[in-house]
Amino acid sequence: MTSYTVIDPALAEPVTEVELASVEQTDAAIERAHEAYAAWRAVAPGERARLLRAYAAVVDAHVEELARLEVRNAGHTLGNARWEAGNVRDCLNYYSAAPERLFGRQIPVPGGVDLTFHEPLGVVGVIVPWNFPMPIFGWGVAPALAAGNCVVVKPAELTPLTALRLGELALEAGLPEGVLTVLPGAGPVVGERFVTHPLVRKVCFTGSTQVGKQVMRGCAEQVKRVTLELGGKSANIVFADADVARAAASAPGAVFDNAGQDCCARSRILVERPVYDEFVDGLARAVQAMRVTNPAEDPDSEMGPLISAQQRDRVQRYLGGVEVAVTGSVPDLPGWWVPPTVVLPTGTQDAVWREEVFGPVVAVLPFDGEDEAVAMANDTEYGLSGSIHTRDVGRALRVARGVESGNLSVNSHAAVRYWTPFGGFKQSGLGRELGPDAPDAFTEVKNVFISNE
Ligand code: NAD
Repeated sequence: MTSYTVIDPALAEPVTEVELASVEQTDAAIERAHEAYAAWRAVAPGERARLLRAYAAVVDAHVEELARLEVRNAGHTLGNARWEAGNVRDCLNYYSAAPERLFGRQIPVPGGVDLTFHEPLGVVGVIVPWNFPMPIFGWGVAPALAAGNCVVVKPAELTPLTALRLGELALEAGLPEGVLTVLPGAGPVVGERFVTHPLVRKVCFTGSTQVGKQVMRGCAEQVKRVTLELGGKSANIVFADADVARAAASAPGAVFDNAGQDCCARSRILVERPVYDEFVDGLARAVQAMRVTNPAEDPDSEMGPLISAQQRDRVQRYLGGVEVAVTGSVPDLPGWWVPPTVVLPTGTQDAVWREEVFGPVVAVLPFDGEDEAVAMANDTEYGLSGSIHTRDVGRALRVARGVESGNLSVNSHAAVRYWTPFGGFKQSGLGRELGPDAPDAFTEVKNVFISNE
């Protein structure tokens, strides 16, 4: 296959054709990035900062265009897509402050001076999934460039359009040729080459746990640096002392955002038994009130289609044989639609409770007491995010410390913020992205001793 037909998932209609890069084209792009690296790392910190701010400004001027492109390519709601394009701009602005702040240390030693430097790695490969094409592009690209690396990006086969546009905008903003290259292509071709090519010194992979493990195994061959952001099966824990009505009203947004195709989706809801019925009633009302419409036609749409027929079929398989408590609506359109659905599993061994569905399906189970809530929340191979609803501050702290997960919110489902660290425990990932320390993850610490003599 040399090209890929991008499909509008709301209507199952072709949008455009995208050329897929071959192994030879990937090698050539990596070599060009390597050639650009010597000059890029030598750009004065203040100038690199200025270029990143210029890139942010150009992205800002194209937020609406990028958002409309994502609505068409990925079926995202317009509000989400605008936020996602704005998130790339914000990441670039935030990390534009990093080049002048990549501090080393001066460590007291006898007979001279000891200094540490944060050296860039070289060429960094960023592999992006289809569920959040723009933010995940920005989370890798912005801190990597700020730290003085050149970057090659492989968008997902299904969603290359915004990444390609962001690549063009980088050149328009004045980033030198070769510093940032977007290479649409197949995972086992372009993505795999990032793993095996010796000039790529780090791979940032976001995607499925299965492919993530393969990437990690491949990187081990060259002891290549790797960051993994993988799957999740996050718990939304509702205690009886919580504001139950509020917790129920906010639960759909925490799992059905992006049609549930979100690694942070709170797809397991744990409800303390005395308020279980009250919560499920409130949740049912909120799900039935959700506005599921074609995002390209309706700017107020709250949920769009799934990304592909394959993903729709995968999600529907989880609905076979489980008790469905409530189903929301879907429009009568030819695309890949699944309504927001609440299921009641028979227990914690059911597949719908244990496996990442990556679609608009949420499972609810009751629990008795704090210890059982924490044990149930941790009874998973994943550990990415989660929410805790309680009015008891002590309990909120105990449970937040007890849940094995990288990102928790209390009485909230706070989304990922670019200025706080993000990443997973257990099989949800390795390393952290975002936050103040992200540029460090794109550097090696070098220690230099200078003798007095
Ligand atoms: P995927 O693993 O199939 O693909 C992800 C990316 O990897 C794509 O660009 C794909 O082309 C590429 N790829 C595929 N095979 C490859 C190979 N052999 N070598 C290198 N690259 C390869 O995942 P997906 O279906 O696109 O995305 C959904 C998954 O991503 C979900 O499991 C979800 O939880 C996860 N995800 C995690 C996070 C996070 O931050 N933890 C964020 C978004 C998505």
